[in-house]
Amino acid sequence: MSVLVYINNSYSELGKVQFSLISYAKQIAEYNKLQLILCLHQSEDVKSFDFGLYGCNKTIALTHSDMCELNTIKLALSDIIIRENSKFILFENISTSQNLAARLSVIHKAAVLTGITSLPLSYSPLIIQKSIFSSKLLASYKLSNSINFFCVKTDFKINDTYNINSENIEYNLVSEQNVDMKIEAKDTRINLSDANFVLSGGRGMQSKDNWYMIDDLAELIGAAKACSRPISDLGWRPEEEHVGQTGKFISPDCYVAIGISGATQHIAGVSSSKTIISINIDEKAPIFEYSDYGIVADALELLPEIINKLNSK
Ligand SMILES: Cc1cc2nc3c(=O)[nH]c(=O)nc-3n(C[C@H](O)[C@H](O)[C@H](O)COP(=O)(O)OP(=O)(O)OC[C@H]3O[C@@H](n4cnc5c(N)ncnc54)[C@H](O)[C@@H]3O)c2cc1C
Repeated sequence: MSVLVYINNSYSELGKVQFSLISYAKQIAEYNKLQLILCLHQSEDVKSFDFGLYGCNKTIALTHSDMCELNTIKLALSDIIIRENSKFILFENISTSQNLAARLSVIHKAAVLTGITSLPLSYSPLIIQKSIFSSKLLASYKLSNSINFFCVKTDFKINDTYNINSENIEYNLVSEQNVDMKIEAKDTRINLSDANFVLSGGRGMQSKDNWYMIDDLAELIGAAKACSRPISDLGWRPEEEHVGQTGKFISPDCYVAIGISGATQHIAGVSSSKTIISINIDEKAPIFEYSDYGIVADALELLPEIINKLNSK
């Protein structure tokens, strides 16, 4: 029997969030005397890290070509859950993982909980807490399913003091015809969760065609890129870049919100940033209430000016 951790590392390098999730999973595995199995996409990460130090008994690299459908990953994970007799399946608390967990929970008649913030309070019966109402309250859940899917908001101490001879295997993904959501493997990998400087765009960017301004500026200043939820819903940017209540929680040194109104659901994911700078055309935009520095300007005029200035240096 096992605890399975799934991390989609095709977008970003492994960082403290992912290792924190593994350490969280290890504590569940140890308490229940279960094997810890890690499932990743990039096989280079499997080769370059010794996951035995983090307590993993086995690491499975999902191998695939550039594009991979969510349905294909779902079927592969479902197969691995059966083979490895997984009782707890843990994900990062991001929307693509929540989507996967929901689909898998139907197949395995399992419980699925998102927004988990701590280890189970007890295992017999299984009681665990999750945050509700934009992280304002904690609710306790008593679960009686034999398989449980948890999407975890990770901020747990990383433990890399194990000495396990971790087995590495490759699992070849076979593409499905029934494609409903694609996850694109990227060469240029950014780690939004760990970034110190984040440039984030919202609906005020007006169109996907204007996103090159954020791309160019981010490259010039070495920032990671993020977006508000409508932007990923519209398909302008990948799900992995969406921050907020239903996306990533980030705490960079500096978060720049460009054309973002400042809805509470967005702020929930970025309020731990040390400094927030916002650019908005509307001086009454709520984002200014949360900002250390606010610039009232048309982003579509201001960004090219900043880029030109930086390029001419
Ligand atoms: C259950 C639930 C969960 C949600 N989870 C999330 C979440 O995780 N993350 C998230 O982001 N949202 C989330 N939302 C959506 C959230 O409520 C807002 O709708 C969303 O954050 C708004 O995105 P936005 O600021 O990009 O767009 P808008 O609210 O449309 O704001 C666009 C802003 O751009 C400004 N603007 C327009 N043109 C320009 C210009 N040329 N230059 C500069 N500024 C300009 C406008 O003044 C405006 O302030 C959630 C909603 C619900 C109901």
